[in-house]
Amino acid sequence: MKRIVILGGGESGAGAAVLAKKQGFDVFVSDLSEIKSQYKKLLNEEGIAWEEKKHTESLIINADEVIKSPGIPDKAPLIKQLKNLGTSIISEIEFAGRYSNAKMICITGSNGKTTTTMLLYHLLKNAGLNVGLAGNVGQSLALQVATENYDFYVVELSSFQLDGMYKFKADLAILLNITPDHLDRYDYNFQNYVDSKFRIIQNQGPENAFIYWENDPVIKAELAKRNINSTLYPFAIDKTEKTSAFVIQNELFINTLKSSLQMSISELALQGIHNTYNSMAAGIAASIVNVKKENIKESLQDFQGVEHRLEYVATVRNIRFINDSKATNVNSCWYALQSIKTPVVLIIGGTDKGNDYTEIEALVEEKVKGMVFLGLDNTALHNFFDSKTNNIVEAQSMEAAVKAAYEMGKDGDAVLLSPCCASFDLFQNYEDRGRQFKKCVKTL
Ligand code: ADP
Repeated sequence: MKRIVILGGGESGAGAAVLAKKQGFDVFVSDLSEIKSQYKKLLNEEGIAWEEKKHTESLIINADEVIKSPGIPDKAPLIKQLKNLGTSIISEIEFAGRYSNAKMICITGSNGKTTTTMLLYHLLKNAGLNVGLAGNVGQSLALQVATENYDFYVVELSSFQLDGMYKFKADLAILLNITPDHLDRYDYNFQNYVDSKFRIIQNQGPENAFIYWENDPVIKAELAKRNINSTLYPFAIDKTEKTSAFVIQNELFINTLKSSLQMSISELALQGIHNTYNSMAAGIAASIVNVKKENIKESLQDFQGVEHRLEYVATVRNIRFINDSKATNVNSCWYALQSIKTPVVLIIGGTDKGNDYTEIEALVEEKVKGMVFLGLDNTALHNFFDSKTNNIVEAQSMEAAVKAAYEMGKDGDAVLLSPCCASFDLFQNYEDRGRQFKKCVKTL
């Protein structure tokens, strides 16, 4: 019996284990941290062997194949050792893809993945398709392949998942944008990260769709270098000869061979240019899989949005509070600022990943009337902004940050939490940060 070892017992690892067991492999799960109780329970129910808080080498290096959690870097000693042994190391998505005939619609990009994934899932589900939601959001693809029978999957893919994918083919691939992120995992070489993102179209042929942002300078440069076999569906605000989705005088057009639709961008549920792009990408994909244009329009209008992404919280004393806690890099904060029409009090800070704030400098100058630095160590923010703004307050708890921002705000302003940084210095994760923000706003 072939032995499959799964490194990492989280959502993807536990799901992969269940699928591997179902396929008749000898399965073992090993996690260097503690495994969450829900996953232990699942593994026990399925009779799958596991260990936590250690990696027992002898139980791992005898694997025929290893499924690695996207969180484990290639530099980890155990991974290096397995590579030296020539063991095949793949991601959970690659593994799951082997056992499914469903159409895979895959979404990647530096920003906007979750929003577009949820939006597209909403479009397909509302249209009555038998569709599953997988990848970074919801249940793992592997678990659903083991237990469900969907015709389509909408799969959110991070670059780390793409790195462990070789034969998997996305029937439809969406690449939203590429800006620097996670460079620590890519030897500080941006091209490595770009190559990782482009794995989304590996194995595609002319029968497959590649949907991408036409004006992204990085994607543009790659298209000029690469020989791409997929059928191309670019989207952009300004139409060129080949653009499938574009805007003319506030009217959004989505044209594929299957359908043509037109609607006002003011009717879109998700506002802001970045969200227009996300709506375009999702709309093109839905049209390609034959969702009727009336259905596409309706779903683009009634989508409820995703928590912590430019999420409207409340208006207090005519100050709008917006939770964009998921903005963990500078580019996403740029789009948040860009989408707000009123003066802004910006709550920013956290664990700085080597950020370059130049990207938001002009927008801060134009729109931001006050800043609250919310972090344990705000040095990088002070170094950049002190000479440029004089209305800066430091806070070391969400409560203090919200209070300070509220005091800075005036009638008609917006208070925006869009931190540009990870949250691990003061919060458990970005969800915890966003929830605390909402709670503090509601007690004002
Ligand atoms: P991801 O899953 O890629 O991290 P999310 O959908 O969770 O993306 O959004 C993360 C942040 O990026 C949000 O704060 C949002 O305002 C911003 N954002 C969303 N879509 C885009 C886009 N197409 N381009 C740039 N920024 C975006």
